[in-house]
Amino acid sequence: MSDVKRKIGIMGGTFDPIHIGHLVTAEAVRIEYGLDKVLFIPSANPPHKQHSQVTPAIHRYIMTVMATYSNSHFYVSPIEIERPGLSYTIDTVLALIEQYGDKTEFYFITGADAVQDLPTWRNIDHLLDLCYFIAATRPGCICSLDHVIKNFGMKGRQRIQRLPTPELEISSTDIRERVRQGRSIKYIVPESVESYILKEGLYIR
Ligand code: ATP
Ligand code: MG
Repeated sequence: MSDVKRKIGIMGGTFDPIHIGHLVTAEAVRIEYGLDKVLFIPSANPPHKQHSQVTPAIHRYIMTVMATYSNSHFYVSPIEIERPGLSYTIDTVLALIEQYGDKTEFYFITGADAVQDLPTWRNIDHLLDLCYFIAATRPGCICSLDHVIKNFGMKGRQRIQRLPTPELEISSTDIRERVRQGRSIKYIVPESVESYILKEGLYIR
């Protein structure tokens, strides 16, 4: 039997809406690390966004499916939106290990801004035993990643890796604002996502 481990990327996010920044980042990490596939996992109730209004999960899920459809390595998992309660990454990764087996290596893909919050994540110490974190550099983020990595000691140095990716100054917050103001979102989101947002009247207030 082959000893080659399967490598799976996990791209977690609110995806409200998914945009080109997410897609370019996931593809860059997939190629650099030779990942077999990337699972996009829209979160149901992100613990860090409890006070802001998040679009119903079904819309975010549909947009994520449409945006990733044309990439044969990209898949969307409903695992977090099907699980009641807050969406903690540790629960997701444990469920994925159960599903794929422990011969699989998991690579959690994040923007460097998200990595700075890692110390606050539930069971982060255990999570670092279970997966790598690939921090894509992101414009506008004054990244003191070194500090975060150092805080986790040896485990941090082994498990948290930085990858300079094509830096696109795009955020879902800006896209929502553009729609609200009637400005164009063409080429910032895939065409199908743009049509869906306009058809469903998302983000108009
Ligand atoms: P919001 O403005 O609503 O927070 P967002 O654009 O940051 O949205 P999220 O769904 O919060 O998108 O992000 C999911 C993941 O994608 C996070 O790890 C985030 O750091 C990363 N990410 C978001 N935008 C970019 C980008 N332009 N380049 C690289 N990574 C990104
Ligand atoms: Mg964000």
